[in-house]
Amino acid sequence: MATLIPEEYGGAGMGVAEAAAILEEIHRAGANAAACHAQMYVMGTLLRHGSEAQKKKYLPAIARGELRLQAFGVSEPTTGSDTTQIKTLASRKGDKYIVKGQKIWISRAEHSDLMLLVARTTPLDQVRKRTEGLSTLLVNLRNAAGNGLTIRPIRTMMNHATTEIFLDDVEVPAENLIGEEGQGFRYLLDGLNAERILIASECVGDGRWFLDRACNYAKERVVFGRPIGRNQGVQFPLARAFANVEAASLMVVHAAQLFDEQRPCGAQANMAKLLAADASWESANAALQTHGGFGFAEDYDIERKFRETRLYQVAPVSTNLILAYIAEHVLGLPRSY
Ligand SMILES: Cc1cc2nc3c(=O)[nH]c(=O)nc-3n(C[C@H](O)[C@H](O)[C@H](O)COP(=O)(O)OP(=O)(O)OC[C@H]3O[C@@H](n4cnc5c(N)ncnc54)[C@H](O)[C@@H]3O)c2cc1C
Repeated sequence: MATLIPEEYGGAGMGVAEAAAILEEIHRAGANAAACHAQMYVMGTLLRHGSEAQKKKYLPAIARGELRLQAFGVSEPTTGSDTTQIKTLASRKGDKYIVKGQKIWISRAEHSDLMLLVARTTPLDQVRKRTEGLSTLLVNLRNAAGNGLTIRPIRTMMNHATTEIFLDDVEVPAENLIGEEGQGFRYLLDGLNAERILIASECVGDGRWFLDRACNYAKERVVFGRPIGRNQGVQFPLARAFANVEAASLMVVHAAQLFDEQRPCGAQANMAKLLAADASWESANAALQTHGGFGFAEDYDIERKFRETRLYQVAPVSTNLILAYIAEHVLGLPRSY
């Protein structure tokens, strides 16, 4: 999890390409990296926009594994995908911000020391552009819990440790503001490409795991006197899913390379996430179908991974919003949202 932290702060000093390889391998081995992936990309906001003092204070402890910055507080119940409509308000009072509002789907908050919170520091009706007036604050969850901050776990169809967070006049020291006040939306956007590439690599790992499992099962399971994998009806969905996983993997590698070279990669990061999420979901369906009834049995893990990989059609950004991005920013079509 210290992969992306520069060596001068005690990290491994590697790039998104290496981080993607690590996350892919975790998923390919049948596990799930959701418990830790956010620390890799949330840390990027601190690294790119934090002050030297903030970086010295937090990054070495994060790199040593003593401090967790694993919670990312963006989503709100009434906001949906339109982040500019965030209502959680951080009002400056002397050397503190007083934060009031509500967040939803904030994963790992119970297990993290710090949360990167996105809040309005200027209300929407007082800004020229709706992307202005948002700020990023580091909230010390251990101090805030019980002092205005309440975390309520949400049970979901997979183990994602996600929560709802209520902020009732939570005090955050002004020194915890990352970068400039009001520029939070910009900071958010430049962290999203890393997030998309890393999640895409997890999907590639899932896809490869599903196809390994399905092909092994198809070779061994004998029905009507022959392995089910001899039937084209079983082979073709697996072959098609394999082709799509491999194509998605190339896009992930391409996007990661552009990111690490600090070249524009918004389109490639979004396409990597779209293609990889679709390919992992296609592989999940093909693997479940290949396993027949056994696909539903907990012992085989297919049903667990099936539930886990379904998330990536919706979070951290839904497929429709990626398509809308490509339509507008790559194809030059009118903005649809
Ligand atoms: C398990 C889990 C973990 C999460 N973890 C975090 C986290 O740690 N931190 C965090 O901040 N958030 C987190 N999220 C929130 C996640 O990022 C959002 O759920 C996601 O961005 C979608 O937003 P929404 O749920 O509000 O859906 P909505 O925006 O309400 O969208 C609902 C549906 O409508 C479609 N839609 C909406 N607008 C349009 C449009 N203009 N055109 C076409 N279709 C449209 C969407 O594609 C979607 O299918 C998590 C979510 C889940 C489920």
